[in-house]
Amino acid sequence: MDEQAADAESLAPQTSQCRVARGFIAQAQPQEWPGALCAIRIANQRDAGDRGQSRAAPARLLGLKRPGDVGLRIDNLIRTPEFVHYLHGDDFAMPLIIRPPVPLELYLALQVVPYGGGQSLLLVRDVTRQMRLEAMRKDFVANASHELRTPLTVISGYLDTLADDPSIDSSWAGPIKDMRAQAQRMNAIIADLLVLSRLESAEGEAVREPIDVPRMLERLHRDALAGADRPRHVLLDLQSADGLYGAAHELESAFTNLLVNGLKYTSKEGTVRMRWWSDEEGAYFAVIDSGIGISAEHIPRLTERFYRVDAGRSRGQGGSGLGLAIVKHALQRHGGRLEVQSAEGKGSTFTCHFPPQRIYKQGVPIAASA
Ligand code: ADP
Repeated sequence: MDEQAADAESLAPQTSQCRVARGFIAQAQPQEWPGALCAIRIANQRDAGDRGQSRAAPARLLGLKRPGDVGLRIDNLIRTPEFVHYLHGDDFAMPLIIRPPVPLELYLALQVVPYGGGQSLLLVRDVTRQMRLEAMRKDFVANASHELRTPLTVISGYLDTLADDPSIDSSWAGPIKDMRAQAQRMNAIIADLLVLSRLESAEGEAVREPIDVPRMLERLHRDALAGADRPRHVLLDLQSADGLYGAAHELESAFTNLLVNGLKYTSKEGTVRMRWWSDEEGAYFAVIDSGIGISAEHIPRLTERFYRVDAGRSRGQGGSGLGLAIVKHALQRHGGRLEVQSAEGKGSTFTCHFPPQRIYKQGVPIAASA
């Protein structure tokens, strides 16, 4: 190995065996780590010297004590499962937010950053204020959506009555039709906002009810075939009898959103195919369409709320702009993720990845593909 490669290797955070290092608290340097409460040095080797002086108030929030904790594995000291999972993973681009193991209304953001010499720093930030503001924002959206539902139901009801009333002058037919369409759109947006609020406010991972995914997909497939204005070929390719442990309504909502998008953004002559399969690394659901596709610069932003590649087209299709945000949150709650492959004019593939721990092996025998 050349010198440069050796240097790079020693700088990389290898956290699987990380222990609290001696002199473990570095005073947070505001210019280096803005907003950090403290930085905890963690080393890959046992490093039990210097059980020195304590400036440890922020570390105590994590339940860490000097000198007793020096040299102990950090994942034995901070046992929150999400933290252990984060530490043993290899993606430290984003911080992990946890509630510390002390009776305080506190949120801490933890982030591993390379420090050199086989060591890493665990940066600790107090994000309680941001989390409270975020909770207020979510409550506000949920309450506003809920409050809007009743008046909108009344308006829609009157519009339905007017549309069927033969005594209304025929010149009103067009405007009434438009008003009903807009009221329907508002209903769809509010329904999606409520689904998203519920997903966002649900704590932790989704429940683990056994779900017969092949049967759920067969039902979605039948509904899609019954729809008007659909692409000519709507196919279901079941390659696994496995199911998933999860929350059925959340997964159904995610799969439906992906399928509906495939149908919406594919022409009548096109094809939309749902595929379900599994291997030793997990289970996968994909919607593959031959539709309008998406150019590369939009792909990273698709799961943002109300992000649309072509707002006019999306609205024209009755889209709320929230579908993929719902998919992302529902998958996250199942330890899964969404992958998007697309090329403008050539079609798209949206794939949901689920971890092996979520696979339910008792699925029904494979049904015939359509
Ligand atoms: P919408 O309700 O507008 O469809 P989504 O959140 O479901 O909102 O999707 C966001 C945007 O991503 C859409 O407005 C559309 O531009 C793009 N998109 C989603 N799915 C597809 C697809 N299968 N083919 C092409 N574009 C898509």
